[in-house]
Amino acid sequence: MGGLRYFESIGSTNDEALAWAASGAADLSLVAADEQTRGRGRLNRTWYTPKGSALAFSLILHPNSQEQLTRHVGMAALAITDALQSIGLQPRIKWPNDILLNGKKTAGILIETVWAGDKADSIVIGMGINVFAASVPPLEALRFPATSLENDTNGSVPAREELLASILQAVTVRRRQMHTNLFLHEWQDNIAYRGEQVLIHGAGENPMSGTLDGLESDGSLRLSDSQGGCTIVRFGDVSLRPAA
Ligand code: ADP
Repeated sequence: MGGLRYFESIGSTNDEALAWAASGAADLSLVAADEQTRGRGRLNRTWYTPKGSALAFSLILHPNSQEQLTRHVGMAALAITDALQSIGLQPRIKWPNDILLNGKKTAGILIETVWAGDKADSIVIGMGINVFAASVPPLEALRFPATSLENDTNGSVPAREELLASILQAVTVRRRQMHTNLFLHEWQDNIAYRGEQVLIHGAGENPMSGTLDGLESDGSLRLSDSQGGCTIVRFGDVSLRPAA
């Protein structure tokens, strides 16, 4: 690991990590907090991290080649799924940045980049994981159903620091594989709704629909239609939903 900054309470671990990365944080430096008061999802949506109930941290990486940038979200998602599988859960990745248990969101990933000209100097990978039931936001705050590890393990949840260690361990393994076809296949194999009808909101005025086929080499999503056509959905501020 690089450096470590821990906070009882912080606005957003990603904000702290972005500032630290911009002032020279070492590779694999970590910002962790027990509570976030201004945790962020994409498009500045709120990510809830109430005190004592969730795992919230941001990891700073120095990427070693430009072409792997878009695979980082897959690397982060696979690291979380690896850790959850190791405690007997069956997580699925809701492309691009959420982790589901039994169809409900239990973790989210927010990736932000510090650029030096046209080169990515640092990548900040924020992860928020609902560990105890108290971390699940109230229904009215949700755009998608949510759950926690406690809800899905009949209460036998690992300690948050053990889960953190397990995810970080998985990051170091997955990071080394990021350029391989095996990595792409494993990422694809863990995607939710594969072969099912889905809707993509936010790419245009009306939602796009199609069968979720799989992933392109850069991690873009491939949808197919009944006429044999296919559409590639790039990363961006789009939201995937099951059609039914
Ligand atoms: P989506 O991928 O569903 O479009 P984002 O990735 O932007 O959403 O994540 C932000 C959204 O996640 C918020 O608008 C809120 O609905 C939901 N959310 C916020 N905190 C949590 C949490 N702790 N657990 C599950 N869902 C959450």
